[in-house]
Amino acid sequence: MGRFDGRVVVVTGAARGIGFGTATRFAEEGASVAVLDLDEASAAEAAGKLPVSGGAKAVGIGCDVSDSAAAEAAVERVVTELGGIHVLVNNAGITRDNLLFKMTDDDWDLVVNVHLRGAFLMTRAAQKHFVAQKYGKILNLSSVSALGNRGQANYSAAKMGIQGLTRTLGIELGPFGINANAIAPGFIATEMTDATAARLKMDVEEFRRLNAEANPVRRVGYPEDIAAAAAFLCSDEASYITGQTLYVDGGAKLG
Ligand code: NAP
Repeated sequence: MGRFDGRVVVVTGAARGIGFGTATRFAEEGASVAVLDLDEASAAEAAGKLPVSGGAKAVGIGCDVSDSAAAEAAVERVVTELGGIHVLVNNAGITRDNLLFKMTDDDWDLVVNVHLRGAFLMTRAAQKHFVAQKYGKILNLSSVSALGNRGQANYSAAKMGIQGLTRTLGIELGPFGINANAIAPGFIATEMTDATAARLKMDVEEFRRLNAEANPVRRVGYPEDIAAAAAFLCSDEASYITGQTLYVDGGAKLG
């Protein structure tokens, strides 16, 4: 008996990284899972690798979460193909790091659009189903960078915006049986942090080692660390928790 038996979970940006790790965890716990990502072929390939069981299904859907019509269409496809929607994980993300004086309009717009507008559009599309059935779980991916990070004015603003969005969703949707929470990961070993190593002209393993050394628990995080917290926050055991941001960062920002 899994915590998500009979549930339908949507994870955006789930073709790889934290999204794929989280989709895997929900599948292990009994859910049917929709993998959304920019490229439908990559999404379908990732969906094919999910450990679904007991009649649960997995589908891959191509969707740019920053596009209003695409977000609406993807949610409707999930409902048609998987028979409903119960959990939405807004995970899709990109970085376009640069110091402020070098940051372009496009760097700003792209990052804010994918993270913040994307979470807004996907949530608005899902909430009508959640409200009608008086049940839904929303999980948004923030970041420790919300607290400020050199070279990430765009990303940091979007990730703090996600926290404000989450609090407001908690207030507005709570009366309809819907919980909304956020996770703010610290350093998680994925292609996103590998790209940061490349930008800093550092070897990936050396970059991870230095980050582990500087962390209170002396290791970097992995997608499974975020997936475990995500599964808890989207479970019925967490139904008295809403509007919160949980830092899953090994204590990196404790001071
Ligand atoms: P990742 O490995 O780069 O994966 C991100 C996924 O999102 C990719 O599959 C990407 O597709 C997809 N994506 C990008 N733009 C999209 C769009 N407009 N619509 C749909 N999908 C889109 O990143 P990650 O490290 O797993 O990060 C996942 C989330 O956690 C992000 O929100 C990130 O900001 C957050 N986070 C990560 C860390 C970390 O240390 N890794 C720390 C804090 C927060 P393409 O491959 O086609 O681009």
